[in-house]
Amino acid sequence: MPRKKSQPNATEVSQVDTAQVSSAGNPLPETIHTGVNAQNTKTVLVSAVLEVTGQVRFGDGTDVGLTVTETDMVLRPSDGAQLQKFIFAGSKRRGVDRRTIHELRDQHWNGDPCYIPNLCCNCPICWLYGFTGTTQNKNINAKSRVLYASSVSVEEVQIGRNTHSRNQVDEKTQMTAGAAGIHEEEIIVAGVHFPTYTALVHVLDWEIGAFAHAFLENVNSNRYTAASRAQGGMKFAEHEGKPLVIVDESVQGIFPLPAPKIPGWENNWQAARAVFQDAVNTDRLQFALQEQGFTVTVQKDEPQDQSPNPNATEQEGQDDEGKDKQETLPSDQLVLQKQGGVIKVKCGNDVIMTRYVGARALGYLRQRQLEAKSTLMDLKADSFQTEIQTYLGAITKSGQAPQAMATGDEDTGESSDDGRAD
Ligand SMILES: [Zn+2]
Repeated sequence: MPRKKSQPNATEVSQVDTAQVSSAGNPLPETIHTGVNAQNTKTVLVSAVLEVTGQVRFGDGTDVGLTVTETDMVLRPSDGAQLQKFIFAGSKRRGVDRRTIHELRDQHWNGDPCYIPNLCCNCPICWLYGFTGTTQNKNINAKSRVLYASSVSVEEVQIGRNTHSRNQVDEKTQMTAGAAGIHEEEIIVAGVHFPTYTALVHVLDWEIGAFAHAFLENVNSNRYTAASRAQGGMKFAEHEGKPLVIVDESVQGIFPLPAPKIPGWENNWQAARAVFQDAVNTDRLQFALQEQGFTVTVQKDEPQDQSPNPNATEQEGQDDEGKDKQETLPSDQLVLQKQGGVIKVKCGNDVIMTRYVGARALGYLRQRQLEAKSTLMDLKADSFQTEIQTYLGAITKSGQAPQAMATGDEDTGESSDDGRAD
């Protein structure tokens, strides 16, 4: 798929943990409304398995004879076998999400109109999801801080694909338009699973919430998929009544527990699901860290009532969220603390990362979503633009790019796919 390349000499705007310093040595202005150069940003990894609940396809192909579902070949390392899998493109998910976030913003936004493909480069969503070139300065290239991975289905194409014929009926004559009116479409059947992974880097809580809003509501309202008739669409896959969703959060962007990645070649649902189960098994997590040479203490405090506790997050937030480092233990000693659906990795009092599991992960996303709603409701275009112009002015004055995120990944830039996703 053709991708719009960044302009040569473009200034790439990105983020670092602490406030950025321009090449002239002057600190760049700290931002408050956007995480671009803010203090107290976080890095968050959202891992979730989506399950097809009815006939779906991705994209809109109503004007061609055959709608083809995107597939790709993967190799299984154990025997070199070639497997054909469905692909749920990250750029498509990203495009659908951005539109949904625009709708949320536009409920109260008093700035210039901003939509795909006419991005304003001057609003909080542009500074979260990225853009190329502003009206004043074509060399500004803001990288997205929300990184979407393409999803490879667990089930193979040969068992998960069906082809349907649809009659196109002429509205005026009520006649089928002959052979030309027969539309063939490939659909993905119920029971196919798509593991999705999204990384949010250097984001404020409300920015996590903007993504969370899109993710939760697009799954809920079947907006990722076309042809979601009957029980169509997707939902969060479950195991024993618990949604397969894991949210990892770290202030420093350090994640000793790896994200639960289901390999692209895995075609067995039980084995794929086990990746998510293992990611919440403290015995396994302890063993994995011990193998790496750490001394690991496990503290389990399973409450008798397993239901999500709405007050728990608040208490944890005030607790010891990586702030108090006075009692930091030697760096080879870690504590795994499990309480309900929350696992913390601590080094002394320093929380390295927090893992939210299942219903608690959904609750985390839902809480951020509500924060995003109230932040966007209160944010005035002029105060946002004043902040951004000050920041841009400092970059331009320094004459050189601030430290760019060295990903080299075109997917993180504004992709032309954004404009065509549906
Ligand atoms: Zn915008």
